[in-house]
Amino acid sequence: PFSHGAREDHHPGVRSAYEHVARRNPDEPEFQQAVLEVLDSLSPALSRHPEYADERVLERLCEPERQIIFRVPWRDDQGKVHVNRGFRVEFNSALGPYKGGLRFHPSVNLGVIKFLGFEQIFKNALTGMGIGGGKGGSDFDPKGRSATEIERFCQSFMTELHRHLGEYTDIPAGDIGVGTREIGYMFGQYRRLSNRWEAGVITGKGLDWGGSAVRTEATGYGTVMFTERMLERNGRDLSDMRVVVSGSGNVAIYAVDKAQQLGATVVACSDSSGYVVDEKGIDLDLLRQVKEVERERISAYAERRSGAEFVEGGSVWDVPCEVALPSATQNELDTDAAKTLVDNGVVAVAEGANMPTTPEAVKVFREAGVLFAPGKAANAGGVATSVLEMRQNARRTSWSFDHAEAELAQTMAGIHDRCEEAAERHGAKGDYVLGANVAGFEMVADAMLAQGL
Ligand code: GLU
Repeated sequence: PFSHGAREDHHPGVRSAYEHVARRNPDEPEFQQAVLEVLDSLSPALSRHPEYADERVLERLCEPERQIIFRVPWRDDQGKVHVNRGFRVEFNSALGPYKGGLRFHPSVNLGVIKFLGFEQIFKNALTGMGIGGGKGGSDFDPKGRSATEIERFCQSFMTELHRHLGEYTDIPAGDIGVGTREIGYMFGQYRRLSNRWEAGVITGKGLDWGGSAVRTEATGYGTVMFTERMLERNGRDLSDMRVVVSGSGNVAIYAVDKAQQLGATVVACSDSSGYVVDEKGIDLDLLRQVKEVERERISAYAERRSGAEFVEGGSVWDVPCEVALPSATQNELDTDAAKTLVDNGVVAVAEGANMPTTPEAVKVFREAGVLFAPGKAANAGGVATSVLEMRQNARRTSWSFDHAEAELAQTMAGIHDRCEEAAERHGAKGDYVLGANVAGFEMVADAMLAQGL
């Protein structure tokens, strides 16, 4: 999907950094896309601060501090041996220990983990909570695997990864294919291998064993909180709006939940098999039963809900809405989908997933004057709540749901305002892409300069 490079009007420092990245990382289209998307915003910052170019901050930023690739052998329920590949990219630790999720999905490769780790640097900076960026995962496909197979896989994965982790070093969490169950199996293995009960080594833990209230809901909730504030600052109101959410995993489910709590109507959501339209508004309990408990296809929702319709294949973005929350996976919303959304009167788009919108689609939204919140700002609520979990672990305490949710709301407001302020300072009021990239970049770049080579 990635089809363009640096442009003539980019700062020479940006152009040379992009060429450097393209040359050193051929065959990694997602990583190149994520890098270019950030560099595209940085020309004004480089013009204003010559030291960024002089000290080659961009080249340094685009090269991970460390990349770990390892073998993950495991045995299935029939006794057959499988070998997967595990990754952990420790991308940047200028602001704090590496922090970022683990993704288990067949599409995972080094380039995908690098793209996610790169995004994570700026996302984590924007939270203002002092964490560096990292990401990991495996090309393991959890689909159709029994709980015992998942358990053995997670144990094998952690048997290798554990030596690289630590509360002050690198703290993983979940992502696609990794939820509380998988975190439990991995935390258990870490505890056995280390003979230490180190809660602060991984986040997304269960509530009874060091987890935080609201961590499960945090990414979806945060995305909607960000959207609500963005709309409000631009003279609009989320309540009563029609919302479409793509996906039906952890992010999507709690985006649906929060949007409905705030008075919006979520009329559609999806999975890889197709989408459901439910004009009465998605029934959250049924959606959770189908996706979280039964781990079934989304068509099962429509079968049990009168008035709901399942559309096999096809694009959920064909469903008219005022607010679109892409919450499935990278590059799921392309130019055609963006044009359809614009034609149908979309007002705001906020990314619940990481880089779900292609660069060309972002351009369509920008030209149409649609409010667009990039994932590194809009979906930062997940990792921010991971830090809330770490704070509770460090103090050996646990907060109420209401307290944790109030902290999340405050954090999302702060992220929103940091983006808004940076955009205005660069004469691009309302441009959340530029605002998020510049605000995140400046924090990391200044810390790198201060700490030397
Ligand atoms: N995987 C989530 C993200 O993309 C959360 C990471 C974390 O909590 O460390 O930000």
